[in-house]
Amino acid sequence: MTSRFKSFPGTSLSEEDFAQGEVLFVHDALKAEYARDTGVGIGAYLAGLRRGVILGSYCSHCRKTVVPPRVVCEWCFRPMSEYVPLRDTGVVNTFSLCYVTWDVQRISQPEIPAVIVLDGASTLSETSVVMGGILHKLSEVDPKAVRIGMRVRAVWKPPEERQGAITDILYFKPIEE
Ligand SMILES: [Zn+2]
Repeated sequence: MTSRFKSFPGTSLSEEDFAQGEVLFVHDALKAEYARDTGVGIGAYLAGLRRGVILGSYCSHCRKTVVPPRVVCEWCFRPMSEYVPLRDTGVVNTFSLCYVTWDVQRISQPEIPAVIVLDGASTLSETSVVMGGILHKLSEVDPKAVRIGMRVRAVWKPPEERQGAITDILYFKPIEE
C-alpha cells in the first residue's frame, strides 16, 4: 500500500476534501483509491506509530489503559482524554499459522497473525467484551516454536518509511530472555 496523503492518515478530512474526493491511500494490488477519517483516538494512535510510539488511552477513574486509544472509557463511560505511550513489547495472547495468503494463494512458510497484549495495557476484566491486545503478525520465529505467552517485541520500519499506519510495525519477533 502506498499513500499520498497531505500530512498523515490521522488528519481529519474536511468537507472540502470529501467534495473533491480526496484520496489518501492507493492499494497497489487492488488498484483501489480511498480515504477515511480515522477519528480522534485512532488518529492519535496512527500519528504515534509514525513517530515510533504505540499510544494507549488512560482512564484516571478506572486506572485502565487501553490500546488502540478510545475517546470513551469502556468501563465507566467517562472521557479518556489522556494518551500514554506503551512499550513495544508484549505477550502473544493467541495466534494462527496461516498457509494461504489473503488472496488464497498456497504458501509453504506460514504467515503468523497473532493477538499481542502489550506491556502496560490493562488486562481484561470479566465485564469487558473487548479482546485484549492488538492484532499483528509474528516473524523471525520457527512456526513450531510459537506459543501463547511468548514474549515478543515490535520490529519497526525505518523512520523515513513510516506512514502513520499499523504497518509501520513490520511484525513482532520473540524476545530472547
Ligand atoms: Zn474508566
